[in-house]
Amino acid sequence: MRIADVRATTVTVPLEAPLRHSNGAHWGRFVRTIVEVETTDGLVGLGEMGGGGESAEAAVEALRPYLLGHDPARTEALRFMVANPTASLYNNRTQLLAALEFACLDLLGRHTGLPVHALLGGAVREEVEFASYLFFRYPSADGSGEVRTVDQLLTHAAELKERHGFRVHKLKGGVFPPDHELAAYRALAESLPGDRFRYDPNGVLSVEEAIRFAHAIEDLDNDYIEDPCYGLNAMRRLRERTRIPTATNTVVVNFEQLAANVLQPAVDVVLLDTTFWGGIRPCLKAAGVAETFQLGLAVHSSGELGIQLATMLHLGAVVPNLAFAADAHYHHLRDDVVVGGKREYVEGRMAVPDAPGLGVDLDRDKVAEYAELYRELGGYPYDRDPGRPGWYPLLPNADFADPDAAGRPAALTAEPY
Ligand SMILES: [Mg+2]
Repeated sequence: MRIADVRATTVTVPLEAPLRHSNGAHWGRFVRTIVEVETTDGLVGLGEMGGGGESAEAAVEALRPYLLGHDPARTEALRFMVANPTASLYNNRTQLLAALEFACLDLLGRHTGLPVHALLGGAVREEVEFASYLFFRYPSADGSGEVRTVDQLLTHAAELKERHGFRVHKLKGGVFPPDHELAAYRALAESLPGDRFRYDPNGVLSVEEAIRFAHAIEDLDNDYIEDPCYGLNAMRRLRERTRIPTATNTVVVNFEQLAANVLQPAVDVVLLDTTFWGGIRPCLKAAGVAETFQLGLAVHSSGELGIQLATMLHLGAVVPNLAFAADAHYHHLRDDVVVGGKREYVEGRMAVPDAPGLGVDLDRDKVAEYAELYRELGGYPYDRDPGRPGWYPLLPNADFADPDAAGRPAALTAEPY
């Protein structure tokens, strides 16, 4: 079995409403690049990447000469062929490598008739629990879906819990002044007694503000506090001063950083992202290190459609030391490009796919529909806030959005969702 062709298709899939974060927003949709790797015997493996609002089609196509003729079973060789650490100083292809690794593992599964989790040591659980992943949101084009005030957040969280059964709730912050988000987080925890909570402002608080925030929530049922300030040393200073476990998906995303964190602990919980780490297998290797040194683990979400979601489920299935619910943006999507449409949560959990490979197939009509939507709308600037033209945050940030500024920004006028 050899790689005979590589194809990439950019799609844009609508969100229920624009999702706000510390650097800007997802402007009402995700832009994702679907990667298809075809073999000489006609099998097609699926991968996915994206997240920054842009197409990666050209970057995938450019790797075709590297990949043609390669044996997809040699995923370790693929790492050095595509993303050698030294060559990566100029051409960082970690996310491309991840999409290709997903497709190669999918191919191996289809070839052998085994689900990907069976190729990775076998499932130790049949379903993966997820957190609600709550965002502050701009209103969608029809005026619905705004999450800005404390009351709106509580209503949104209650709806998501009712619909999907979440028992763990993550608040994505870093948008509004810390006191507004503190009030929102405390009210959230108080409105859902018995559930668990986590707060993630994407590193924008100063260390001192992060310490103040952590002290103000220490009495709540926190899983952890995720990247409240930026950097291993900042997180280490915070960790020395709070009883809440610290977590990151930002400053431990490779093995150099993992080693640094083992030698001088700064985060207690490492959030593994199948894209940021360059595939499912590097995440598994990191999970082994975490098991050795008794670090906590969770599965991170960088904004997924059904293909990447499947990689998260297979990872979650095989990691024994997974003590926390996974994150997913997935329930904010209005649709998916895989056969069967959006995968369902049952009581906050998703079943791990058991069909050969990743266990998902492309719905070609949906891919065509959302590829057309991408051609119509193009990308969006993920690191710009449509409500604050020209603004960008410093680290630490001191210039937050105004929680009293209601409504849909003019910059979203051309956006249909
Ligand atoms: Mg995070």
